[in-house]
Amino acid sequence: MSQNKIKNVLENIISLTSERDSNALELALAQTLFKLAAPESMTLYRASSIDSIKYANTLIGKHHQNEEIPADILDALKVCLESGKTTYIQQQEKKLTLFPLLSAKNKPIAVILIKAAQDSQDHALTIMILKIYHNFVALMNENERDTLTGLLNRKTFDLKINGIISSLQGNQHRRNSDSNMPSYLAIFDIDHFKRVNDTFGHLMGDEVLLLFSRIMEKSFRDKDLLFRFGGEEFVGVFQCPSDETMTIVLNRFRGNVEKYSFPQVGEVTVSCGYTRIETFDLSSTLIDRADLSLYHAKNNGRNQVCQHEQLIASGALEHSDNTGDIELF
Ligand code: GH3
Ligand code: MG
Ligand code: MG
Repeated sequence: MSQNKIKNVLENIISLTSERDSNALELALAQTLFKLAAPESMTLYRASSIDSIKYANTLIGKHHQNEEIPADILDALKVCLESGKTTYIQQQEKKLTLFPLLSAKNKPIAVILIKAAQDSQDHALTIMILKIYHNFVALMNENERDTLTGLLNRKTFDLKINGIISSLQGNQHRRNSDSNMPSYLAIFDIDHFKRVNDTFGHLMGDEVLLLFSRIMEKSFRDKDLLFRFGGEEFVGVFQCPSDETMTIVLNRFRGNVEKYSFPQVGEVTVSCGYTRIETFDLSSTLIDRADLSLYHAKNNGRNQVCQHEQLIASGALEHSDNTGDIELF
């Protein structure tokens, strides 16, 4: 490889690994690969499960979001996702490489499909760049997630929530029904968790936190953002068509926790306070509103879901505020 080419490769790797946001990273990857290997097309497919593969991002080329995925490619995508290994298929004169992208927990979550001419000399280079990208994404994921539960961590919450609020402001004038759907922030706090630790020990307490986070992941959808906020406190950010539906969804989760028999510990319950995210909210006011509602849920028997706006409308929140017993959960 010429000195110039090596310099070019290194410059691209430096620019790639300076990104801290996963969307910007994808774009930097696309630019890097395009400059270095000039593949004919490159498409990123995301998959929440093997059966829900969809186009998400055409990095280079001319695929469209709603275009149906050809059967041979769909089969290869499934093989790649199931095995977690780089997969190759031949299509006429073209070579298709499917490169799995793994989550922090080594679970394939996306596939990059690269279409290149059969005799592309830079194929090996493309694969190496993808490996660097892959390692970097894994590192970034680890940094964004809580080590015990694998949910997003508090630091990521601070980064994401401001992005969500600004995107609400940006969507104000758009008519896209999905992005105009209301968003909500909910705080969950496990009831009497101190008793779990005191009775069964801290290790068993950690096990409950882990199982609790699994119930959260199963109860909500993939695109909902779930955070461990600290200790036995969790936060969810959701898009939902109405307050009524949000209450139903949160209560379904609350019920799933109540129904679950935690090994040795038995029944554990959770209280939840939530609020609608308004266009000009600050993250601190959102947290305050959800926290006040959680406080109300705790003071009124625990194992329940309370919405801030509803508590205000019914006058219940003021009643709860006036108890004067300020305590942070
Ligand atoms: P409430 O229903 O009012 O929320 O009661 P609580 O006992 O859950 O509330 P409190 O805030 O008094 O206690 C929270 C406990 O959570 C205190 C601490 O022992 C425990 N805790 C915090 N972080 C961790 C952790 O990482 N692992 C374990 N095992 N326990 C934790
Ligand atoms: Mg608690
Ligand atoms: Mg607490």
